[in-house]
Amino acid sequence: MIDKINKLLGDIEELKASNVQELEDLRIKFLSKKGSVSALMDDFRNVAAEEKKNIGMKLNELKTKAQDRINQLKENLENSSSSEESIDLTRTAYPVELGTRHPLSLVKKEICDIFKRLGFSIAEGPEIEDDWHVFSSLNFADDHPARDMQDTFFIARNPEVVLRTHTSSVQTRVMEKQEPPIRIICPGRVYRNEAISYRAHCFFHQVEALYIDKNVSFADLKQALLFFAKEMFGADTKIRLRPSYFPFTEPSAEMDISCNICGGKGCPFCKHTGWVEILGCGMVDPNVLENCGIDSKVYSGYALGMGIERITNLKYRVKDLRMFSENDARFLKQFENAQ
Ligand SMILES: [Zn+2]
Repeated sequence: MIDKINKLLGDIEELKASNVQELEDLRIKFLSKKGSVSALMDDFRNVAAEEKKNIGMKLNELKTKAQDRINQLKENLENSSSSEESIDLTRTAYPVELGTRHPLSLVKKEICDIFKRLGFSIAEGPEIEDDWHVFSSLNFADDHPARDMQDTFFIARNPEVVLRTHTSSVQTRVMEKQEPPIRIICPGRVYRNEAISYRAHCFFHQVEALYIDKNVSFADLKQALLFFAKEMFGADTKIRLRPSYFPFTEPSAEMDISCNICGGKGCPFCKHTGWVEILGCGMVDPNVLENCGIDSKVYSGYALGMGIERITNLKYRVKDLRMFSENDARFLKQFENAQ
C-alpha cells in the first residue's frame, strides 16, 4: 500500500492540464468518490492496526498534495485565460463620441473660403521666428514699440529668436521665395506679452492676405474688402475706411463694418456709433517689397489682416475671449451645429 501511495505522490507532481476539461478529468481521476485517492481510503480499512498510524499520515499527505496540485493547476489556467480575454477581438466596439469644430476653426475656415473664391491660396509659416521676418523686413524701426520686451516674447539666450507677433512674417517668407504675382492668405497663431483678460490674451489668431502684381491699386483692395464683408456678415453690410498707420503699408487704413446688431442705428455694442472695427489694411510699403527682392517700380500690392477672435466675437457674440482656450465642453458644444 505504501508503494501505491508513493507512486501516486510521484504522479501528482507531474500533473499537467492545458484546459478546463483536462483539469476536470484529473480531478475526477484523483479526488472524486471513485478516484484513486478515495480508493486507497477505502483500502485503509483493511490495513493492519499497527500500520494504521503510519499509512494514515501518508494517505493524508497524498490527499492534501493532490488537492493542492489541482488547485494550483486551476489557478494557472485562470491566469492564462484572463490574459487571453484582454485581447478578445470579437468584442463589440464602444461607440466613439464625436467632438465639434472649435469656433475659431469654423471662422478661420469661413474667412479662408471667402478669399479662396477670390483666387487666394493658403500659406503657412513657423510660429518661432527670427527678428528679420517679424520686424526688420517689414519696415519696423529699431525703436518701434512692438519690438519692446513688454509686447514680444523673446528667447532669453538669443534675442534674435521671437514668437511671431503677427502672421505678416509668412508674407515675407513667401515674397522672398516667390516671384509675383502673389495672392496668398496666411492664417495662424500669434503671441504677444499681454495681461490675460476678457479682451486680451497672450496668444490669439490672425488671418492676413497679400496680393502683389503689376498695377494693383487701392481700388482693388477696397473691392476685396467689400466682397469679404458682405460674404462674412451679410449682403446689407457697409464698410468704411479710416486712415491709419502700420509700418509695412503706405497708405494704411482701418476698416469698420456697419454694426450687425443694430444695423447701423447705434447700440451699446458699437458704442452708439453704428460702426465696428474689424481689420487693418493698406498698400504694401515699397521698402517691404525691396527688402524681399521685389522691384517696387514694377510691382505693387495690398495687404490686410484681422484677428480671428474679433471676427468670431462679432459673429457669435462671445463676450470673453478666454472661453476660446478654456476647453469648457459646455461652451464648445454650443457650436455643434455650426458649419
Ligand atoms: Zn450697433
